[in-house]
Amino acid sequence: MQDFSFYNPTRIEFGAGKIASLDQLVPANAHVLVLFGGESARRTGTLDEVTAALGEREVQLFGGIEPNPSFETLMEAVALVRRHNIDFLLAVGGGSVIDGTKFVAAAALFEGDAWEVLTSMGQNIEKALPFGTVLTLPATGSEMNQGSVITLKSLQAKLPFKSELVYPQFSVLDPVKTYTLPTRQVANGVVDAFVHVMEQYLTYPTQAPVQDRFAEGLLQTLIELGPNALTEPQDYSTRASLMWTATLALNGLIGAGVPQDWATHMLGHELTALHNLDHAQTLAVVLPEMLRQRKAAKIGKLVQYAERVWNIHQGSDDDKAEAAIKHTRDFFEAMGVKTRLGDYGLGAEHIDGIINSLEQHGMVALGEHGDVTPAHCRQILLASL
Ligand code: NAP
Ligand code: FE
Repeated sequence: MQDFSFYNPTRIEFGAGKIASLDQLVPANAHVLVLFGGESARRTGTLDEVTAALGEREVQLFGGIEPNPSFETLMEAVALVRRHNIDFLLAVGGGSVIDGTKFVAAAALFEGDAWEVLTSMGQNIEKALPFGTVLTLPATGSEMNQGSVITLKSLQAKLPFKSELVYPQFSVLDPVKTYTLPTRQVANGVVDAFVHVMEQYLTYPTQAPVQDRFAEGLLQTLIELGPNALTEPQDYSTRASLMWTATLALNGLIGAGVPQDWATHMLGHELTALHNLDHAQTLAVVLPEMLRQRKAAKIGKLVQYAERVWNIHQGSDDDKAEAAIKHTRDFFEAMGVKTRLGDYGLGAEHIDGIINSLEQHGMVALGEHGDVTPAHCRQILLASL
């Protein structure tokens, strides 16, 4: 196991009806800005529930944070925070609203051009407003981590940043709030959480049996419960387990002490920025061929993944690795998330543009050993057509 420093200060309030606990979680004298997305928070009644729980506190609302939240929209929220002396933020939504709120928390107190929050990948952040979240979409783990991904519409760029200063103070996880999700978003959430685990588990070299067993348990839970989440939207037990799995997939725990990959995410971000695929759709396209491209280097871990997660015990190491990659693709397809570029209207003629963007964003040495180059990514995209 590698040395590590683990820090995670986010309190989790988990369960049906937990939105009421906002009254204890948000300081009594806070001047709160509630941030949300399009219409779902209002339509489902969650926004009303949240404002009721906040009681007599001074509350302002900021709606309209789009999926893949944009710098341009979020800067409007920053202006509102400054204009109204807001001192506490509350995100109500999925990963996009939470990521966006992290950016607003840092940018509102940033001295200088808020753009540098992104260009420094968060390293320039010296302070941030405190904030909490009410999660409505289990997927990203953003409710219990220090990461965020922001889109620059003007540059067609999707850039990650992180800082210990943007951990949520608390997150409310009420599985009932996921009942209203469209099937596509449930499926996206399962795939995103699955790939988060893979980015930390399917790496080498590792001798981290606790992290491995923990990761394998999360993957098996997603495989077991994912299909049920699609067909039984009001099955509390399934939704509760999925929600907690998605949080644990990316709250730092399984990634502590192991090498981390993230090449699939970085290449995926370019597909969203240029061609507007959902985040999880990009991952479902990229991951299978990313694993195949790097099969030789990752073979030991691929065999372990095949045996322990998919129960594949027949054949050579190469047979097992290939079968595990096929099972992974089939699982994404069974969840209804397509795994080929052609399924999203993209062909070979789009690949140059994607690779150019990757290079422009400095994503030229990806993976746990920095050895995944744009040339590899080109091969991966060609194989994903
Ligand atoms: P999302 O973009 O937050 O939400 C997707 C859609 O789901 C929105 O249209 C939203 O509608 C709707 N929705 C949310 N909750 C709902 C509910 N309870 N009922 C009905 N509709 C609901 O999706 P996400 O997958 O959670 O977040 C994706 C973003 O997170 C991407 O930008 C991705 O890059 C990023 N990400 C971040 C991390 C991290 O660690 N920070 C990790 C992975 C990915 P409304 O807009 O109408 O509310
Ligand atoms: Fe993700």
